[in-house]
Amino acid sequence: MKILFYDTKKYDKESFDMVAPEFPDMEIDYLETDLNKHTARLAAGYDAICAFVSSDVSEAVVNRLGECGVKLILMRCAGFNNVDLKAAAANNITVLRVPGYSPEAVAEHAMALALAVNRRIHKGYIKVRENNFSLIGLTGTNFHGKVAGIVGTGKIGAAMCRICHGFGMKVIAYDMYKNPDLDFVTYVSLDEVLKNSDLISLHCPLLKGTYHMINKDTIAMMKDNVILVNTSRGALIATEDLISGIRSKKFFGVGLDVYEEETNNVFENREDDILETSITARLLSFPNVIVTSHQGFLTKEALAAISETTLTNARDFAAGKVNEANLVK
Ligand code: NAD
Repeated sequence: MKILFYDTKKYDKESFDMVAPEFPDMEIDYLETDLNKHTARLAAGYDAICAFVSSDVSEAVVNRLGECGVKLILMRCAGFNNVDLKAAAANNITVLRVPGYSPEAVAEHAMALALAVNRRIHKGYIKVRENNFSLIGLTGTNFHGKVAGIVGTGKIGAAMCRICHGFGMKVIAYDMYKNPDLDFVTYVSLDEVLKNSDLISLHCPLLKGTYHMINKDTIAMMKDNVILVNTSRGALIATEDLISGIRSKKFFGVGLDVYEEETNNVFENREDDILETSITARLLSFPNVIVTSHQGFLTKEALAAISETTLTNARDFAAGKVNEANLVK
């Protein structure tokens, strides 16, 4: 099977090269450029393409891939909100993903953001580097004894529940499906999570029903001085409403690994660019906001699991079988 790998970063190639010897029938060509309507045609002659969270896998791109004879889209990530599944079905292209490569990697990053923004680590680090040893402005709150509200208790949300429990927090959660492993979690309605939590962490997928689930009405329900963390998908939060909420001092802190309009920024060095939108700049203007660039997945363990599962998906497909759990439809 010939696979064209889009948007290759150094760490992608290293982790795929590490497992490649286990998959001698897979021939991978790595491209630095990402998938879009201009680069889709490069897939002519390939059986499969491998794409990531910021790749453009929209209808026009999928149609182009279909014309090129591509039969398989390998998403090397869990999310698939950027893939036009109707177009994939119409072109008889199978879409496979990596649903749970290392939930702890993302959950640990969510807690890292929560802790950093709570204890103002980002401010303390800069101050000390400038020989400013004053503690003014760095007062945080204890997480121990506080309420963590987890929205979505799938693989990552469950890992976050366990971490918060380990911190001595009372853990409440909202999900349509109760996770039977989480006997220490109290399931409540979404409204109750919003009203009662000191720390809210989002772990549900971006779907029509979850788009802008955090908006001016749901922000108004939250406790004053809440900490909000989003490591899931940017569009779960209506960013303009979030910015208004931050300005009205609703939040003690906000930690974002994902944000709306991140697509052009994610994984790119844009230090010489004039950015097209001001969302990032406005978010970064607040002293109680930390933004990271979709790095929740970035641990050695997660990268190893992503490459192993992606190539297993490809091998299974070539052998005429598909792991239903990894199939996106
Ligand atoms: P998962 O499928 O295991 O769990 C998602 C959970 O959300 C499920 O239990 C589902 O029932 C629940 N859910 C669906 N709609 C909901 C709603 N309206 N309200 C509350 N819960 C709802 O997925 P996961 O592996 O835990 O991943 C969660 C999300 O994390 C992914 O969708 C992806 O967007 C994101 N993610 C981010 C990174 C990163 O690097 N920042 C990495 C991987 C995944």
